[in-house]
Amino acid sequence: MGKKQFKTESKRMLDLMINSIYTNKEIFLRELISNASDAIDKLYFKSLTDNSVQLSRDDFKIDIAIDKENRTLKISDNGIGMTEEELDKNLGTIAKSGSLQFSKENETADKDVDIIGQFGVGFYAAFMVADKVEVLSRAFGSDKAFRWTSAGLDGYTIEEAEKDTVGTEITLHIMPSSEEADYDKYLESYTIQNLIKQYSDYIRFPVKMDVEKSRPKEDNPEEYETYVENETINSMIPLWKKNKSDITEEEYNKFYSEKFYAYDKPLRVIHQKAEGTVSYQALLYIPEKADYNYYSKNFEKGLALYCSGVKIMDKCADLLPDCFSFVKGIVDSEDLSLNISREMLQQDRQLKVIARALEKKIKKELEDMLKNEREKYETFWKSFGLQFKYAIYSSYGAERTLLEDLLLFKRASDGKLCTLKEYRDAMPEEQKYIYYAAGESAEKLALLPQAELVRDKGFDMLYLTDDVDEFLMQILHDFEEKEFKSISGDDLGLETEEEKKEKEEKAEENKDLFAAMKDALDGKVCEVVLSSKLKSHPVCLSGKGALSIEMEKVLNTMPGAENVPKAEKVLEINGDHAVFETLKSAFAAGDTDKVKLYAELLYNQARLVEGLSIEDPVAFSNAICELMK
Ligand code: ADP
Ligand code: MG
Repeated sequence: MGKKQFKTESKRMLDLMINSIYTNKEIFLRELISNASDAIDKLYFKSLTDNSVQLSRDDFKIDIAIDKENRTLKISDNGIGMTEEELDKNLGTIAKSGSLQFSKENETADKDVDIIGQFGVGFYAAFMVADKVEVLSRAFGSDKAFRWTSAGLDGYTIEEAEKDTVGTEITLHIMPSSEEADYDKYLESYTIQNLIKQYSDYIRFPVKMDVEKSRPKEDNPEEYETYVENETINSMIPLWKKNKSDITEEEYNKFYSEKFYAYDKPLRVIHQKAEGTVSYQALLYIPEKADYNYYSKNFEKGLALYCSGVKIMDKCADLLPDCFSFVKGIVDSEDLSLNISREMLQQDRQLKVIARALEKKIKKELEDMLKNEREKYETFWKSFGLQFKYAIYSSYGAERTLLEDLLLFKRASDGKLCTLKEYRDAMPEEQKYIYYAAGESAEKLALLPQAELVRDKGFDMLYLTDDVDEFLMQILHDFEEKEFKSISGDDLGLETEEEKKEKEEKAEENKDLFAAMKDALDGKVCEVVLSSKLKSHPVCLSGKGALSIEMEKVLNTMPGAENVPKAEKVLEINGDHAVFETLKSAFAAGDTDKVKLYAELLYNQARLVEGLSIEDPVAFSNAICELMK
């Protein structure tokens, strides 16, 4: 029989495979095993009603054999097989493939990378690793067998052949290794076993292979001998398909550490079987610790995606919102197909439905942990809390409703973590704002002069020590109708009407002094004012406007910090402090040099207290010496 040509569409698909630059060529095995499993399914189904099949459930299997010498890899099944016509039709024409359709509509340079990675590509994947493929098949109900052979684009032949049993045997002639790619590894038992475990572990029929093992010799236990055993490589029933009640905590944890190479113990296991518009099973883990690269660009979020036990993707990013990117796990759905052949769009929609349901579920579990397992939640928070803050900030608040109840902050009163709700509920009636102090560490924040009065009033504060915190506060703005207020802002709203009036009068009396100080500071501050938040300290700096001093500090540590806008700084003077009297008398005596000297000293002190560096340390040091003379 002469050579037959592939149909145009198939040729394109084949071309895509042969010239694939895709690095995961190894998925060819997953495709062939999944086809074998489909074929067995069909015959098994038949066997339920047709006695002539003469096979029972336990007889079905897929065999893998490696022949290193001849460089072949064989995949055999005792499934339904193919007739001559079917070989021609099924392998000569790839039935209107979704992947192909997709690649046509999306002509980009690395098009194959995407489709191959995300969706099944089918039988032709064999050509990513083999330069010649033979398919020997005998269909159920026929006593004739046929061999389909192809070495790629120039076509294929079909000839009659010998085969004793019903089923299909696919022989791949593995390509020689080259500098660009190592194909020899597909002739290594170890690699193949791993690939089966990795991609086809949950195929419902046994995938068997001869495995070389070693044992102590019977006559001399000191020495070892190798022997070969035919073993089932796949574990067949996935953990997530079992009933929760049949799974021990240990099994869950073992799966977690093996599947995700994790060293920590999960804080929570979420095992969900959903049935509805889209059915799926999910087995998700909330880790205890963040991966070493979790907060870096290299981190890749996503859940492993399976379709009827066959792995489609290792990390399907679309299944997880960014804020929950720490979740590890797998999702298995029968409603997705290995080949994207059904409309891409529809599939997309199903993924979205699953993603939305998972998001809800994860949130519920975290809320439950917060409520019932506080200690665990705080451990979780220490690892992943930052992610929530970033998520709210970078979504401009869109993720707020999802996450704000899950936020924790350290509170000043007892150094413990609290939710916004807990803080809010503990507020005395007269407290108008939710106060916070932002800075490097809780220890340093406790020393801030600005905190004195707030504390004196019996109001608590949140200590914000992450870079993103103040930016987050700007996005949040308020919680349950109480505005957030930085204790380093200009007005803390702590005074009574009377105190306010008194202060205004005093400020008016001294307005020339303040103006002189501001001049003396020559643009370093936008204002010098009488403070309403200081008690025992003489001065402090506060920020005016949207950008606080802390935020300026944070921005300065970021890459490309040359053009960071400056926070508008206000120098606040404690009108009840002795230095204020000194200032007043110097001003009254018309000693402008002294006023300038004091203003600079006080400004620099305030900078130090605020954790800012002094712009001219030599001048500062000279000024102190001047005083001591
Ligand atoms: P898909 O599996 O999505 O249908 P493939 O390209 O993987 O696409 O396979 C094409 C067709 O070839 C299958 O639909 C099936 O009819 C046939 N086929 C492939 N492998 C086998 C096999 N081992 N036994 C029987 N039929 C097979
Ligand atoms: Mg297939």
